[in-house]
Order: sequence, then structure tokens, then C-alpha cells
Amino acid sequence: MPSVKPIISGTGVPVRIPDPGNAALVDPEVVPILLVDDREENLVALEAVLRNPGYTLTKVSSGDDALRFLLDHLPALILMDVQMPGLDGYETAAIIKSNPRTREIPIIFITAINTDERFLYRGYEHGAIDYIYKPFDSHVLRSKVAVLADLYRKTERLVRAEKALRESEALDRERRIAELELRSLRREQLDQKKYRNLVESIDHGIVWSAEPESMAISFVSGSAARLTGHTSEDLIADPHLFLSLIDENDLPLFRHAVQGAVQSGTEARLEHRLHTADGQIAWFHTGMRANLRPDGNGLELRGLSVDITTLKNAEKTLAQAKRRSDLLSHASLLLADSLDCAEPIRSLMNFLRGRVFDFCALETFELSEHHHAVATGRPERDAEILDTFLHHPFPVTDQVRHEWASRTKKVWHAVDGDSLAEIAGHPSRKAAFDAAGLRSCLQLGLTSRGKLLGLLTFGFYEDRVLTEDETTLAEDIAYRVASALENAGLYFKAEAAIRLRDEFLSIASHELRTPLTPLKIRVQQMQRLLDSRGQDDIPAEQLNKTVQTCHRQIERLSKLIEDLLDISRISRGKLSLYPEDFDFAELIRDILTRFSGQLESAGCVVTAHLDSPLAVHLDLSRTEQVIVNLLTNAIKYAPAKPIEITARAMGDEVEFTVQDHGIGIAEEDQARIFQRFERAVSSNHFGGLGLGLYIVSQILTASGGRISVSSKPSEGATFVVRMPKMIPESLARGTPAE
Ligand code: ADP
Repeated sequence: MPSVKPIISGTGVPVRIPDPGNAALVDPEVVPILLVDDREENLVALEAVLRNPGYTLTKVSSGDDALRFLLDHLPALILMDVQMPGLDGYETAAIIKSNPRTREIPIIFITAINTDERFLYRGYEHGAIDYIYKPFDSHVLRSKVAVLADLYRKTERLVRAEKALRESEALDRERRIAELELRSLRREQLDQKKYRNLVESIDHGIVWSAEPESMAISFVSGSAARLTGHTSEDLIADPHLFLSLIDENDLPLFRHAVQGAVQSGTEARLEHRLHTADGQIAWFHTGMRANLRPDGNGLELRGLSVDITTLKNAEKTLAQAKRRSDLLSHASLLLADSLDCAEPIRSLMNFLRGRVFDFCALETFELSEHHHAVATGRPERDAEILDTFLHHPFPVTDQVRHEWASRTKKVWHAVDGDSLAEIAGHPSRKAAFDAAGLRSCLQLGLTSRGKLLGLLTFGFYEDRVLTEDETTLAEDIAYRVASALENAGLYFKAEAAIRLRDEFLSIASHELRTPLTPLKIRVQQMQRLLDSRGQDDIPAEQLNKTVQTCHRQIERLSKLIEDLLDISRISRGKLSLYPEDFDFAELIRDILTRFSGQLESAGCVVTAHLDSPLAVHLDLSRTEQVIVNLLTNAIKYAPAKPIEITARAMGDEVEFTVQDHGIGIAEEDQARIFQRFERAVSSNHFGGLGLGLYIVSQILTASGGRISVSSKPSEGATFVVRMPKMIPESLARGTPAE
């Protein structure tokens, strides 16, 4: 664009050239006026007249220059000579008026010649607003210019005011927009704060975001510190930390879930373990989804990992409890299968083998060896190991019995060779353990009511100590097996008792009938004699003999009945003692006298060595019962053999022995003959109810004494009785036996 330079300047007044690009710097009160005249003197004259600080005068010398000037400037007024070479005033004005940009600029023509009205009209047609005639009156010129300048100023002020108003309105709008933006920013901040608070208030879960490739954490909620033991800062700072916490068994699953979330765009979920800073393993349920990053730059994985450790533990406990209860109920079912628990025990051992333990063995102490059972991981070895156990039973000493019976928890773990050897109890048993491949085991004593019934051994192929749950399970199984053993024992005892009772009843009826037969015969004989001869003709000797026989049989019957009554008293706990002073030696002599006939007819000679007198304070009739029982047994089981009796004072006690040389008693029977109904002889050969020695031992126990026997079959037996000289007051009680 051609720049327009002032053509003339030399008035001494600074001529401002308005710069449209910098219009703001133009003083609005200074009015720009363009002077157009081809004659320099005219321009100078105009300038001289109009010189005023309120005007900026620009002088150009042709219409062309004027138009060029107007390309870049908008003067407030143009004073233009009409008569000019080239474009004259009218032509120049016509062009100015044809341009919308310059159309409104008032033009005052200066003319000297054309005062003719036609010229004037032409000027007005071309946009002139006024004429000044040369020579001009400077006052008139100044006034006309001043009016237009004033108008310009006012217009200019208006324009500026309007512009200022527009600007202020725009400012106001901007301010309001800024306020709105600020408010929305605040709301956003508030929302973010709410969201942050919400995230931070989730204390059982961790909210996180991460880079999907590396799983480097970019955000993690504060709860991570409590749930993992690693602070948010640590988890963000170390890009590998989060992934390294995932349990290695669950890592492939976790990676798979990440991949799934990224590829599908949907949520991926999984349960996995996580190692916390304190070495614990926690369970988490993680849900994750891949979202576009806020900056739109790639994907970001966002997840929520909820701590479900408590739930998992509860699930585990429940599953364990169910497994345990299933196992125990099955064990109970198996054991209840039969009263003789031998077969059920074998089934149970087989059931447990491999399920809970690698090895199970049961050895019983109360029941027969038939109830032993072994189940190993290699069933083909079971019989061999069982055989070893049968040949080398666990050494159950009194101390062992006591230890097992008195301990509430009878568990031994063995995780080394020495302990295993101790548990095995015998080198051969240890060898059997080794052959079975055992590395550790748990042994439980099966006790019931303080009695050791058996031993249960559970073994493992690895060195380990059982968990509390496994130990409790083993104990529960042991408890059930012990109950089964006890029930089986009771069952066998009941069976034996019933058998014994039946036997006893047949023997008792036989025994009671035995004296009745001779009694009946003798009474019938007497009746016949009376019938045939009359009372006076019966010889006294014969009568006496018959009466004696009757008397003996009645005695025998009375004793049998007395024994039965005693048994009933003993079982009711009513065996009462009534101590009195008497001479023990004297009592023996009396009894021997009374039994002289019986001894004689049996062919037994008694030798008595007695400390005499031997004063005692005992129950006389019960002491007599003891002596008579032992003496009659000697007569019965050693007929036609001598009998030795001794009675001696031994400190506070009396020792009384009866020795015979009869059939004797086998060693295995010596203990049981003191039990009720127990006999070591056949009822076909010897009569008796098996009650005599039982009653004797009960009387002695009640008196604070005891009895023992030493014997060899066919060599006779020696019964030794020890009893206090005086029955302790605490033992003397009750009312006389009826
Ligand atoms: P009973 O003699 O009525 O059978 P006991 O209780 O007196 O009952 O004796 C129990 C068993 O002890 C007898 O059956 C017998 O086998 C054995 N016995 C007792 N005394 C002797 C003895 N002096 N010699 C051999 N055996 C004996």
C-alpha cells in the first residue's frame, strides 16, 4: 500500500499524520484537516488562518494526492480548491463521496471565480457542504471550520463513548464468563474432592490406576498402606512393587485378567493372593477396567481390589469343618457297623489311609489281637507290619499306662529318627515304621475312664508337625475308636457275664439239688422204718446216723444259700463287720473239732501250728467263714492228703495259711479264682458255685486284709491270708447281717 506523506509542512506547527494502525494514540480533541490546493501560496494562507493547536493540518497540492492521503487517513474536514490541474475539486469530491469509507467527510470548496449558482449546485451535488470564496474572510473561514471541527469532536466523542461502552460491555461479559468458569472450576474441584474423599473412605479395598503394560501404579488410595503395609508413595515410586506383591501362583491369572480388560474393554475380575509387608498372605477380589487416559493419550487400567481375607478364611474353615464332619460321621458309621469292632476298625484304618494320614495303626490292650489293624500307603506290607506289631507289642509299662491315662492330650509328634524310635518303643517296631516309609507320626493313647485301651498311630511320609486342626481331627477319631473299643469290651464282658450267669444257674440248681437227694432218701428211709417197726423199735444208732446225714445235708444247703445271700449283700455293698475280741487260735481249734468228722471221712490229717493265744478284735463269724472256706476247699481239692494250717502274729497283723497237697491251680487261673463264679475245675468233677474264694477276698478287703495263693498243678496249693489284728474303726459298720 502506498504511503502518503504530507506534501507540505513548514508552518512551524507540528503536523500529525494520523496512523490508522495506532488510532488509539490520536488525540480525539485534535481535529485532522486536509487542505487541498494546487497553489502553494493558497495553502500557506489557509494554514496561516487555521493554525490552531486544536487542528492538525495536512496540505496536499492535487486531487490525486488528496485521494492517496485518504487511503490511509480519515480527516475531519477537507478544504479543497475547486480549480486544480488534473483532477479538479469536484471530480476529487465525487470520488471521495463514492467511497463509503470517506463518504461522510465534509468538504468545503474554496473558489474564487465560480460564484455562478450553477457551479455552486455542481459543488453541492458532489458533496460539498459549503463554499468559501477567495479572497476569503479569515473569520468566516475559521468560524466555518470551527463549527465543523466541533461537530467532528462531538461525533468523535460519541464514537469513542460508544466504543468505550462496547468495550466495557465486552469486559463485563468476559468477567461474567470468567466468573462462570471459576464457579464451574470450583464445582469441579469440589466434585474431585468428593470423589477423593469417597475413594479414601473405602477402607477394605484399594482403588488404583496403573499402566496396563508394566502395571506401574499411577494412583493408589491411602487404604493400601493399611491393607498391604506399603504406602501409596512407595507403590507409586517403585513401578514393579505392586506386581511383585501378587502371589506367584496367581500372577498368570492376574496378567490374564489385565490382558482381558485391555482387549475387551469390559471389566475383568479375579480373586488372588497378595503378600503384605509383614509377610502375611491376604486375599483380594480385584475388578479392573481399561479406560482412555484423561489426556487422551493411551489406556489406563483402573481397579478396585477388595480385601476378602476374612471371607476366604471363613470359607476355608467351613470347608475344613465340613470335610471333618463328613469324615467323622463316616468314621462313626463304619465303627457302628458291628458290636465286635474288629472289622469296622480295619475298615476305618483303610478309609483313613491316604485320606488324612499316610499310615494308620491300631493296637488294642484290652481286647484280643484280632482287633489290631494296620493300613499303610502300601497295602501289600500291611500284614507284615501287623505281624511285627503282634510279635513286638508296644511296651505298656505301668508308667506308660499312668502317663497316657492321666494326660488329657496324648499327642506325640516325631520328626526325627530318635523320636520315631521312642514312639516305636522297640527296634523291630521302628524297623516296621521305616519299612512303611514313615518320617513323622502322631501317637494317641486310647483311654476310657482312666483306662488305656489301645494305641493309635498316625504316620506321614514327610517330616511334619500336624496343624491344630489335623491334631483335633486325629483326637476326634481316637475318641470314636476308644468308644468303639470300650463298647466292644463291654459287649464282650456282657456276653461273658451272661454266659457265666447261665452256667452259674445250671451249677447252682445242680448244687442245690445235690444235698436234697440224700436228704430225701434218708427221710424216706426213716419214714419206712417208722411205718414198718414203729418209733420204739428203731435202733438209736441207726436213727442217730440218719439224723446226722440229714443234718450235714441241711448244713450244706444252708451254706449254699448263705453264700448266695452273701453275694447279694456284697453286690449291694452291705457286707457289714461287727468286731469283737476273741482268740484266733481258739477259733481254729473249734473249727477243726467241728470238721473232724468231715476230715476223717475225706482222709485228711490236719497239722496246725498256731500262736496261742492269738488275741484279735475282728468280726468272729466272718473270720470263721474265711477259715472254713479255705479248709473245706483243701478237703475238697486235696482229699486223702495232709493239710497244714498256721496262724501267726506278724506285728499288727495275723498271718493265716492253709496248705494242701491236692490238684493245685494253674498259674493262669490263680488270679481269676478270686472273682465271682470263677472256677478252675470242671463242674463234672467238683461241685461248687465258684463263690467261696470271692466271698473270702471280699471279707478280707472289707477287714483291711488280703489273700494270695501259690500253687503248682498236682502239687497242692497254699493260701496265705493277712489281716489286721484289729479291724480299723473306719471299716466296722452296719447292722448285723440278716
Ligand atoms: P468252688 O470251690 O465252689 O468252685 P471257690 O471260690 O471256693 O469255689 O474256689 C474257686 C476255684 O478255685 C475252685 O473251683 C477251684 O478250681 C479252685 N480252688 C480253690 N481252692 C483250691 C485248692 N485248695 N486246690 C485247688 N484248687 C482250688
